[in-house]
Amino acid sequence: MTRTIIEGGFIATVDQGGTEHATGHVVIDGGIITAVGAGAAPDRDGAKVVDATGCLVTPGLVNTHHHLYQWLTRGYSQDSILFDWLTALYPLWSRIDADLTAAGAAGAMAVLARSGCTTVGDHHYVFPQGSGDIVGGLVQSASRIGVRLHATRGSMDLGASQGGLPPDFAIETTDAALAASQEAVERHHDPAFGSLVQIAIAPCSPFSVTADLLRESAVLARSLGVRLHTHASETAEEDAYCAERFGMTPTQYLEDLGWLGDDVWMAHGVHLDAAAIARYAATGTGVAHCPSSNGRLAAGIAPVRDLLRAGVPVGLGVDGAASNESGQLGVEIREAVLMNRLRTGADSFSVRDALRIATIGGARVLGRDAELGSLEPGKVADVAVWRVDGVEHAGILDPVAALGLGALPPLHRLFVGGRAIVEEGTLTSAEEPVIAEEVAAASRALAARL
Ligand code: ZN
Repeated sequence: MTRTIIEGGFIATVDQGGTEHATGHVVIDGGIITAVGAGAAPDRDGAKVVDATGCLVTPGLVNTHHHLYQWLTRGYSQDSILFDWLTALYPLWSRIDADLTAAGAAGAMAVLARSGCTTVGDHHYVFPQGSGDIVGGLVQSASRIGVRLHATRGSMDLGASQGGLPPDFAIETTDAALAASQEAVERHHDPAFGSLVQIAIAPCSPFSVTADLLRESAVLARSLGVRLHTHASETAEEDAYCAERFGMTPTQYLEDLGWLGDDVWMAHGVHLDAAAIARYAATGTGVAHCPSSNGRLAAGIAPVRDLLRAGVPVGLGVDGAASNESGQLGVEIREAVLMNRLRTGADSFSVRDALRIATIGGARVLGRDAELGSLEPGKVADVAVWRVDGVEHAGILDPVAALGLGALPPLHRLFVGGRAIVEEGTLTSAEEPVIAEEVAAASRALAARL
């Protein structure tokens, strides 16, 4: 791999001290960042130079929560709260298979890449009988688009007949879910520095999974050395469900089952009170903040300022496209700024706070902040080069505000491990029109199965 110099742009390193260079350089060698600094790069011999004049250079964005397969079910149940929305969509989702999932995932990941995302977290929890190798299909689609994948092997084993929310036809047995989770880790998880595929274990939620599966999943994940993920404290209805069924808050219930720890991250964390925030902070449990999805389903606004002040790791997520049809991670930076200000005030959450959770915050949530999430020598070269000299942003006082308050800037380049997968706003790793056609066909095919 040749040496690449990105220079002439505004560099927001998102390092510990928030170092920025009004005009600076980033040097990439062998997929690793080897130098970052002000002005021009010192040694230009034999390097390929990317002119970033008029650009904002940031770490590649890290998505901490998604359901890639939902790319095929955008636009459904538009005016529902979570439980009604889930109930409407379970029948459709329970007809997916590996091929349809791979097609939807390619579309979702193409849009993520086009919005600055280099690391894609996914949470897949629907595994119908005979649906083929879904996790393998997700891994293939990530390789096709060229992004880094954090797939989680999810599961549901608590059907409606046992008091759960999903219909019985959408669930697996506890043993089957555990065995398949172990197999997914053993087949696909690569713990190496800079790896392109990691797997975590992710039973779906307190209202779709038994206590046994939650407890056993935690034991299994720890024995395999991988992380744990689930949905938690998303809605008031979930609070009521846990109060009625377990006599506890979701946080108390999950802690009881071994589910708080620095190897765990939860999607949403909207309904966390002071006691819960203190438990997350004390245990190092992370949160994936998903502002657009929380808005679409009217779930509420997560207490991100309070989580950050308490020291809780917070990352950003788009969530599945069935509750966020945009699917653009870059857009969530602005959504996070707006939503959190509605909750806690105009000076409570800055554009730099939002960029931080979208990058190093997400990397920490995924346990990869030593490798990803900031522009520093020795880190993997996941770099977004945003064009902020076009008609949307020319003349703006602060390039970081262009990203955090303005229209999503087009990408001049997006590098994953030093490889450019987006150039001049277009995906170069795969043909966008081909992906769009495949997504349309797969969406139609899935709808026809209902
Ligand atoms: Zn979700």
